Amino acid sequence: MPARKIPVCAPSLQGNEERYVLDALRSSWISSSGRYLDEFEEKFAACVGLRHATACTSGTAALHLALLAAGVGPGDEVILQNFTMIATAFALCYCGARPVLVDNEPRTWNMDPGKIEERIGPRTKAILVAHVYGHPADMDPIIRIARRRGLVIIEDAAEAHGARYKGRMCGSLGHVSVFSFYANKIITTGEGGMVLSDDKEIIRRARYYKNLCFPLTGPRRYEHEDVGFNYRMSNLQAAIGLAQLERIEHYLACRRRNARLYNEFLGGIPWLHRPPEEAWAKNAYWMYGVILDEEAPLSREELMRRLSRDGIETRPFFTPLHAQPALKKYGVKARGGFPVSRRLGERGFYLPSGSALTKEEISFVCRRLKAALT
Ligand SMILES: *Cc1c(COP(=O)(O)O)cnc(C)c1O
Repeated sequence: MPARKIPVCAPSLQGNEERYVLDALRSSWISSSGRYLDEFEEKFAACVGLRHATACTSGTAALHLALLAAGVGPGDEVILQNFTMIATAFALCYCGARPVLVDNEPRTWNMDPGKIEERIGPRTKAILVAHVYGHPADMDPIIRIARRRGLVIIEDAAEAHGARYKGRMCGSLGHVSVFSFYANKIITTGEGGMVLSDDKEIIRRARYYKNLCFPLTGPRRYEHEDVGFNYRMSNLQAAIGLAQLERIEHYLACRRRNARLYNEFLGGIPWLHRPPEEAWAKNAYWMYGVILDEEAPLSREELMRRLSRDGIETRPFFTPLHAQPALKKYGVKARGGFPVSRRLGERGFYLPSGSALTKEEISFVCRRLKAALT
């Protein structure tokens, strides 16, 4: 048994983080302007392959800004997958919009493109797609539907830095996209997020809303036309982000190596389904998730408890949106049975997935899993 606990996902900060943060601190540019912010926005946009970006305080704030910038407002309906992290849905609530839930599909664990059209109505404004756990959603059919029906596509790529769909970067496939830099994401700024687009106007609007809707031009500096937010990222956070971004290829390679080792070691273990990777996909493996069969000799909760006794941290999958009390109170009507997302929520959990895991740790996790299941 390893001496230390194996965390489910710890950040790895072994590059220029300390040097850049100290430099920013000593320069006294510690608030929401500075060269690290400019450079982080510019380089992250280039990494995703887009022209414009604005950094903000979190992935959740980035979602809110993206929706505001895309013109989603009160009464608008937005198509959303039932299985995703809660922030994807909350951002719609902040705008007064109505989430319209569709089930996920078993191939990708993401939005089922075949379930979208039947939920489109006269008030539908946008499709909000999340790439869950690092596997891209099947975007081509979604893009075709959006074009035909005149809908905006907003990509929640908070879990999918560096993931690719048919060779194209996740986060570059819709009209506007968002990323999170929370501590457990593939790269981090501690807390933070970004909104990106090729549409200059969208990013201009996102910047406007994130900075309290200060007027962009004109002499009346303190006269505000709209209700804004303070969602500004600091130069200190961006200093961490820039250092992280310099090593993003390394972190992605670590994630994919983790998955390769898990796939290999878990091969012979009964009742356990490994995460998807479609032929057209490059999964970023933000989290290495598995599904435990109904026929398994012990429950998911019991299995997670046993692993925890061995010092192995795990987490259950997200609770689907149709079962979230907050959304029921908000008035989200969940039509449909949601068999796929329901099963993911009930049977899925993820194993330690951080970039700093060693081969020995992964092998230990798999041996303990095997011991519990056979
Ligand atoms: C993490 C995450 C968010 C929220 O990001 P924060 O930075 O934690 O606010 C939004 N959507 C998805 C899919 C996420 O995984």
